[in-house]
Amino acid sequence: MTLRLPAHLLPADGRFGSGPTKIRREALEALGRASDLMGTSHRQAPVKSLVRRIKEQLAALHGAPEGYEVVLGNGGSTLFWDAAVSSLIDQRSAHGVYGEFSRKFATASARAPFLASPAISEAEPGSIALPTATDADVYAWAQNETSTGAAAPVVRPNGTEGALVVVDATSAAGGMEADLSQTDVYYFAPQKNYSSDGGLWLAFCSPAALERSARITAERWVPDTLNLTVAATNSAADQTLNTPALGTLFLLDQQLRWMLDQGGMSFAAGRTRASSQTVYEWAEGHELATPFVTDPALRSQVVCTIDFSDEVDAAALARQLRANGIVDVEPYRKLGRNQLRIACFTSIDPEDVAQLTRCIDWLLEQPDLEA
Ligand SMILES: *Cc1c(COP(=O)(O)O)cnc(C)c1O
Repeated sequence: MTLRLPAHLLPADGRFGSGPTKIRREALEALGRASDLMGTSHRQAPVKSLVRRIKEQLAALHGAPEGYEVVLGNGGSTLFWDAAVSSLIDQRSAHGVYGEFSRKFATASARAPFLASPAISEAEPGSIALPTATDADVYAWAQNETSTGAAAPVVRPNGTEGALVVVDATSAAGGMEADLSQTDVYYFAPQKNYSSDGGLWLAFCSPAALERSARITAERWVPDTLNLTVAATNSAADQTLNTPALGTLFLLDQQLRWMLDQGGMSFAAGRTRASSQTVYEWAEGHELATPFVTDPALRSQVVCTIDFSDEVDAAALARQLRANGIVDVEPYRKLGRNQLRIACFTSIDPEDVAQLTRCIDWLLEQPDLEA
């Protein structure tokens, strides 16, 4: 039976997915009016100035250090892993692996026939492991492991001079602070905190990363689509190698303008911190719920994972929420836990997050959750 949640408990917006996620209605409405842009050439001024504005706003929002460049291309963060394997890893990479996303980059490196086997530091889902100094020339981990809701610090490991630090910020960028000078590559895709559509990757690249890529791609055969230097050359000219999704660029620009208008990164990070604090405090105070990430210092402020005790069927809970228009709080499919995963990305209103906890409370009081 579908249970009807009382209207006064419902969030104004029911999108709590961890990616793709809520896109603000104002941005979607603006997209509907963008007939001077949508359907026009990506080699002409309207799109090129949009790309330039995105690069400038990202650099301002993230406080990009002198000499760092914003590079972008098609294919999302998954493509970026292959680009990094092809264009950045010279002989060997080292990875922190603590969930599905951090594992995928390590696997991409392990499969490359021209590289030595990567060094892996591994931790159970819900915890983190950072790579430690070895003979690697790339050190990689994820700032936010979206599959588990564990967050890792962005600090250059000791004893890694000359190597590149390559941080997956796909679900962190735009919602969590980071000092980019601790990284050589800080890469992401815009369908999470940047509330756009998928299909694009973006990366802040240090001078050392740009130099490394230029050297490797001059020596090694690298397809153009995976060639970071080709992407950097195009990005410097405010374009991408091949046609980008203009709607994705447009929505990203809308989000950047909104974030900067509201106060920049301190606004964004403050909002995600407030939302996630609501979720964690609620779970800690609830006799049937508990945060999956046991160490409070590792709990993500953008993706909250909440375990339920055996007497609650979290999948049934998610189905009931979905039937009421509250969507995508199912756990990461491969994690296989009795859990809800609630995104607290920057666009998501902290008041809606509080309403969501009230909806869950109401459902947990019903005698039968089975939909
Ligand atoms: C979503 C996500 C990815 C994958 O992004 P795509 O654009 O779908 O390839 C990679 N890493 C992390 C941490 C993510 O959250």
